[in-house]
Amino acid sequence: MSTILFTSTQHAAHSHRHPEHAGRIDAILAAIAHDPTCVPMYAASAAVPTDTLMFVHPPSHIAWVESQSAYAESHPQLDGDTYILPGTGHAAHAAASAACNAVDAMIAGHTSFAVVRPPGHHATAHAAMGFCFYNNVAIAARYAQRVHGIRRIAIVDIDVHHGNGTDDIFAADADVLYVSSHGWPLYPGSGARDSFGTGAGYGATLNIPMPAQSGDGAFFHAYKNLVIPALERFRPELILLSAGFDAHWDDPIGNCRLSVNGYLDLCALIQQAATQLCDGRWAAILEGGYSLRALSTCAHGLVRSMLNLPRLPDPLGTTPSDPHRADATVDWIKTHHPLLIPA
Ligand SMILES: [Zn+2]
Repeated sequence: MSTILFTSTQHAAHSHRHPEHAGRIDAILAAIAHDPTCVPMYAASAAVPTDTLMFVHPPSHIAWVESQSAYAESHPQLDGDTYILPGTGHAAHAAASAACNAVDAMIAGHTSFAVVRPPGHHATAHAAMGFCFYNNVAIAARYAQRVHGIRRIAIVDIDVHHGNGTDDIFAADADVLYVSSHGWPLYPGSGARDSFGTGAGYGATLNIPMPAQSGDGAFFHAYKNLVIPALERFRPELILLSAGFDAHWDDPIGNCRLSVNGYLDLCALIQQAATQLCDGRWAAILEGGYSLRALSTCAHGLVRSMLNLPRLPDPLGTTPSDPHRADATVDWIKTHHPLLIPA
């Protein structure tokens, strides 16, 4: 049993003057490489067939990403937030592939981390948005179900933005629990506390809009009182972590105040839940994080915890925040969410 990092060099063909650029992956890999005690295994992502992307996205969306990539040279800006380049289609395919590779490794008994970009959690089945083209974590979840016969999956999204794409893809699905903690108000504006899922999936979506400037204490309180109890009630067979690190106080586009240790405390709770509930089956898939030093320190710390290595001192430190900032939100969700109210 080891920890395997899945990477791809194809991401570098999708890079622009933009917060979401190739230097993000370079910073993470450099931070890990500079730590002689932290030695995960590395594997190049192996491309999954286009059919696997179709577990989530219709052929029209995949064709659209590929055709827009081909056309992109003269029009790199797809919308106000998202750019597209000739290498984008291949980069996005490689990112989704690495997420599936991470699932294979997890099923084989390893812990794994897909260190990928472009990120995925804003991509809906039908649309690219918010720097995202294919929804990597959603494809990985469907891959676990269809290729490995797993039924019940929990996705925990710790990115500061609500993963509207992931939420939308699984809103009506009772077998996939989607949990998101996200800064509020913040892009994309979805993920209200009373959006619990729809139809058969009612109760299998847990959105925790964290008031802006929430920090370590408030996030830990929310995870201890909402996320962990929800996982215990849902009893997933595996957990996928949408590992965005833009809720760190140093992030230029986030609005929360987590420290590196605060982030790693949340990851440790998820790791413990995976150990207790699903034989240690969990995998992380990179999402956002735009302060290179916060992103790389958090991701490095996550890999160390996967390897069961002791935590290093946090070189960035903390910034003051009110530990009770999310109390009212947590209390409301605890008393209203169908998965959490006593039967
Ligand atoms: Zn984000």
